Amino acid sequence: MELVNNAQEFGYDILSISDHNTTSAYDELKGNCMYGKRPFIFKGSIEWTTYYGHMLVLGANEIIDWSIAKPDDIDSWINKIKMADGLIGVAHPFKLGSPICTGCHWDFLVRNWDKVDFIEIFNGNSPQNQLYNEQAYKLWSDLLKEGRHISCSSGRDWHRPKKVEDNVAINYIGLEEISSSQIKQSIRQGNFYVTLGPTCSIQVKAHSNSRFFQMGSLLNPGMYEVDVELGETSNNLNGNFMVKPTKLRLLQNEECIEEIKVTEQLRSYKVSLPLKSGEFRVEVVGSFQNKPDVKLIIANPFYVS
Ligand SMILES: [Zn+2]
Repeated sequence: MELVNNAQEFGYDILSISDHNTTSAYDELKGNCMYGKRPFIFKGSIEWTTYYGHMLVLGANEIIDWSIAKPDDIDSWINKIKMADGLIGVAHPFKLGSPICTGCHWDFLVRNWDKVDFIEIFNGNSPQNQLYNEQAYKLWSDLLKEGRHISCSSGRDWHRPKKVEDNVAINYIGLEEISSSQIKQSIRQGNFYVTLGPTCSIQVKAHSNSRFFQMGSLLNPGMYEVDVELGETSNNLNGNFMVKPTKLRLLQNEECIEEIKVTEQLRSYKVSLPLKSGEFRVEVVGSFQNKPDVKLIIANPFYVS
């Protein structure tokens, strides 16, 4: 309950507790789904904590036994979790493993990355300062370059209260209503972004039929208008870190195709551009605690084919 109270205090709308190899946290919260301003509890999540890596399983209908998973048969376990309608994410793949933290380094051999829904690229406290998060970002980016459909995510590893000088990253999920099925659907599609504080909305509109698309959508190649609207630059969690967006970066197949200067006066940006086959995504870069060029928002891709 302490975690839920803290989550409420921080202003989270949704909380999914992926404890190490146990879902007992949910029994403790029985019946507490949504009342008052408590965060919505997205159930059925667990962190597979094995010698070969930590894997996040979210919203599965049944618990799949992780204890006999081997480094080279992870694909078959991933299939089983998919059958149970679970989402799959790789947690902190490059965190130091044994003897510092047993199993924290990802050593499973994934043959089909398309079955993995997301990779955690911001993990722990002050995630932007951790080399292992940079390596995770690189792995994600390389998989996108290969043509995989895979999202990036953030997670807190919330074992103890954070220090005041630490910041954390947050996932913002595109939802029309807060329900487990919608949360699952949006995460599966990749309709979410990770941020160190600032919020935004990102939409892509086809020139041909004016239809709007959300992150994670499949698009045909063609001319599109990209609308980015920047919202609040800080929130309860990340209020005191002097966050200032300075640039919008548009990336196609992991190459920056356009960089737009962001000013404090202008919050809304529109760009028309041809989208070709591959992936397209948006990042907001800026200063964080006076450090320039920090990735403040990393939005999940649109997929063009
Ligand atoms: Zn872990």
